[in-house]
Amino acid sequence: MDADHAHATSRPVSVPLGATVTSAAGPAAQLGAIRSTGGPRPADPQRPGPQREPGAVRATGAPTDGGLQDRFGRVATDLRVSVVDKCNLRCTYCMPADGMPWLPQSQLMSTDEIRRIVRVAVQSLGAEELRLTGGEPLVRKDLEFIIAGIRADNPDLPISMTTNAVGLDRRAQALKDAGLTRVNVSLDTLHPETFAELTRRPHLDKVLAGLQAARAAGLGPIKINAVLLRGINDTEVVPLVDWAVSNGFEMRFIEDMPLDGDRSWSATNVIPARDIRAAIEQSFSLTADPRGRGAAPAERWEVRRHGETTLAGHVGIISSVTEPFCSACSRTRVTADGRIRSCLFSHEETDLLTALRDGADDEGLAQIWRDAMWTKPRAHGSDRVGLARPDFVQPERTMSAIGG
Ligand code: SF4
Repeated sequence: MDADHAHATSRPVSVPLGATVTSAAGPAAQLGAIRSTGGPRPADPQRPGPQREPGAVRATGAPTDGGLQDRFGRVATDLRVSVVDKCNLRCTYCMPADGMPWLPQSQLMSTDEIRRIVRVAVQSLGAEELRLTGGEPLVRKDLEFIIAGIRADNPDLPISMTTNAVGLDRRAQALKDAGLTRVNVSLDTLHPETFAELTRRPHLDKVLAGLQAARAAGLGPIKINAVLLRGINDTEVVPLVDWAVSNGFEMRFIEDMPLDGDRSWSATNVIPARDIRAAIEQSFSLTADPRGRGAAPAERWEVRRHGETTLAGHVGIISSVTEPFCSACSRTRVTADGRIRSCLFSHEETDLLTALRDGADDEGLAQIWRDAMWTKPRAHGSDRVGLARPDFVQPERTMSAIGG
């Protein structure tokens, strides 16, 4: 990333939604400027590590009824389901330029299998909210049917979706009608050149059109997720907050995590939460959100422009690396091929889909899930906190196949 480019981001940027985005150099030229992160690619990252065969070993001490409690007394009520591992972008901090070895169709959960697994989680295990993730969920053509089925079974369940919004402009209303509640949109920059460099696709205008359609369809509150990378988009903190609050979005900054397909993550490239707060405070005052954080991954702040008392909006910071929040973690995850991950950084998974396909009943599936969550590690996939620890081992499954 050349310095000039970095400098360009200090100008206040206001990109009205739905605007056609053009850039002097044109998409092809920009793509050539990608920062290659290199590094060996694991043999088959989509079939990672040790698999716990369901029911093979009962987790000693695991509850045999009720919710998803772990050994540390945490209870998982925040369900994250990845519906596909494929994505239509190639973000440099997530996957290699030519993608990953995708899961074969036969190993992906079907529309009805996803519906059933969510029903078990909500009705037998006390899940209180659902986040649909990917890869990129919009890659699934049956997404509206998946959501409609889940909504039919769970009329009051908050259903959100993490998406890059490419293609959302054509589907926002149908997803809303199917029962989707709101969206988190991944957007790391407001500059078309930086966008094309970071995602390896010239689609910023499609993302902005998707955001406009999501707002028009009432898929709110809309949150914007931005991963900050040193020397790439770290000078866009204030412009992103300014743009988000001006458009009624909640801006959330995410510390870059060691879950990339190229395995080139380095702690030195992480923009720590304290620096993000300091950057925001150049133009805004931050007040801790009086509603508190609870088990939410993001620490939330009220935002006011300097010299103003009016609340301009909210900003969140997800600081897994420098200010971890594992002690209150309430997340449980299911991958697109139906494996339970008790933690984002788990080295172990439990195969729920095979048990389902082999005819397990709902209580059988629920108990497999309880067992899997009972042995959830304390933090960061192990019983020791810290992603920047020298002995930290990155899990085999990458973020693109977990979904966040
Ligand atoms: S690292 Fe694991 S335990 Fe910590 S907050 Fe994330 S999912 Fe929860």
